[in-house]
Amino acid sequence: MMDFHCHLDLYPDARSVYAKAQQQMDFVWLVTTSPRAYVATSKVLPQTKSITVSPGLHPEVADQKAAELELLLVQIADSPAVGEVGLDGSARYRHSFDLQKRIFTAIVERSASLGGRVLSIHSRAAAKEVLDTLEQFPGFGTAVLHWFTDSVMLLRRADNLGCWFSVGPAMLNTANGRKIAAAIPRDRIVAESDGPFAKTDGKTVMPWEASNISSAMAGIWGMQTSTASDILINNGRELLSKIQKLQR
Ligand SMILES: [Zn+2]
Repeated sequence: MMDFHCHLDLYPDARSVYAKAQQQMDFVWLVTTSPRAYVATSKVLPQTKSITVSPGLHPEVADQKAAELELLLVQIADSPAVGEVGLDGSARYRHSFDLQKRIFTAIVERSASLGGRVLSIHSRAAAKEVLDTLEQFPGFGTAVLHWFTDSVMLLRRADNLGCWFSVGPAMLNTANGRKIAAAIPRDRIVAESDGPFAKTDGKTVMPWEASNISSAMAGIWGMQTSTASDILINNGRELLSKIQKLQR
């Protein structure tokens, strides 16, 4: 079982979720939302062989955490994985969009100057601007667009840029999510929970439930669940190897 985007530190019972994930899962990518949260989380829920903890600066808190950008740029030097980062152009966060763009641009530029990073990217109502930024800095590494909800046309552009996509059970509960998932290249899709924010049937998605997308993807792809599961596991291994290569 693998989960490529999880706010594990934000579950109310984070320590027990961490312990169970550590015991039962092959891989969890624990994305943090601010550079200081990364420092604090790494102490309580340390990185292990199967749990990657990454520094980030969530676009929703760009205005509150902008002063921590310098710290993030330092942290990125020692971290092969970066996230959660990105842009949010929805009405609620539009007021900080220029600031978000400055922050995200600095992160992508830094990733490129360090020889590339694997980035977990939020792109709600801002996929075009996210892709514009990535295109400015060839060599930024590997982008993993998390819970991509934009158009199939922009998805094609992301595909041409070599982007990966992390998809969770909550995304596949919506018609638009399934439409997007169907258009993602089969060799570039991995499972995510986005817990504890993501919910299905009113229940918080747990890290070990990320792989539940196998059955919905099997329906979309028209194949057995076990075959879809194998595809997702192979993709997960390949993406994980990109992170591990940078660790050396
Ligand atoms: Zn997230």
